[in-house]
Amino acid sequence: MKSIKTENKRASYSADCFLSGALITDSKNTIIYVNSYFEEHLYWKSDELVGQNINKILTKSSRIFFQSYLIPTLLHEKTSEEMQLIIFNGQGIKIPMTINAQINEEGKVFWSLYNSSKQDQLYDELIKTREKLEEQAEELKSLASTDELTNLLNRREMNYRSTLLLEQSLRSKQSVALLVIDIDNFKLINDTFGHLEGDRVLKELGQALKSFGRQTDLISRYGGEEFLIMLPDTDKKGALLFCNRLHAIIADILVDNKPVTVSIGMTISNTINTFIDLFTQADNAVYQAKSLGKNRTQLFGDDNTI
Ligand code: GH3
Ligand code: MG
Ligand code: MG
Repeated sequence: MKSIKTENKRASYSADCFLSGALITDSKNTIIYVNSYFEEHLYWKSDELVGQNINKILTKSSRIFFQSYLIPTLLHEKTSEEMQLIIFNGQGIKIPMTINAQINEEGKVFWSLYNSSKQDQLYDELIKTREKLEEQAEELKSLASTDELTNLLNRREMNYRSTLLLEQSLRSKQSVALLVIDIDNFKLINDTFGHLEGDRVLKELGQALKSFGRQTDLISRYGGEEFLIMLPDTDKKGALLFCNRLHAIIADILVDNKPVTVSIGMTISNTINTFIDLFTQADNAVYQAKSLGKNRTQLFGDDNTI
């Protein structure tokens, strides 16, 4: 008894009860059936579709997809699931649809269509959120690696990048030059003209170093009024020339009409140096430059200054 009841109940249902499109096409791609979803949700009257080619509801790109992929897949596999197609509703509006389809022996195709507008919106939102996160990550990375006042590399980033550059240079047997640049009498500038004037000098010096250096040079603000520069593929002669020019452009920065001066400690890598070795050498050289009267470049291991 129970099974007859179930059978009767099943018979009273139809494809019109489902919240998804059901469509049947024949072997010539003519629509031979649509359920009431097309009228109720897609604004097509069934007699506007039945007897028409399926192309009537497909956008241009969906037609190409339909002909070149969907039909061959169905003929070959008999079924095709989760295809994304865009169809026109009866008002000419494009609706993204997810489609499952299967073909029978007579070449009739039974389509189930699910509106995937929300899924597409969600996907768009996900893409936008990901792009935003990537931008923020870039921003954070830049904030974490640069000095706020001068926009040069900060100490941490400089340690990281110069270690890599040195390793690379040693491998390719190229020498690098490391310069420690320390502003002379900077405390006096601060004490006499104020901290803001000191900050202006730091900023201008940062800009000067940046515009003077090559793209491949690593230029950093390493401490308060101390800058560290690593010059790849540079020998002693090239580095001394660089320092001479640096003294000249820094002299264009004026405080109370007097040029700002710096002391530079310089060293050139050999085949066994680590970054710490080079930094210690350049730092010792800058102390020597200070003790010899400031406003000069001292090469590590050299008795003469320039
Ligand atoms: P020397 O010629 O021997 O290098 O002497 P100096 O006065 O330049 O060096 P000292 O180390 O005695 O003083 C450095 C000063 O730099 C002290 C500190 O207040 C100042 N300073 C450090 N960071 C900043 C900053 O961000 N802004 C400003 N305005 N001053 C800073
Ligand atoms: Mg100092
Ligand atoms: Mg100083």
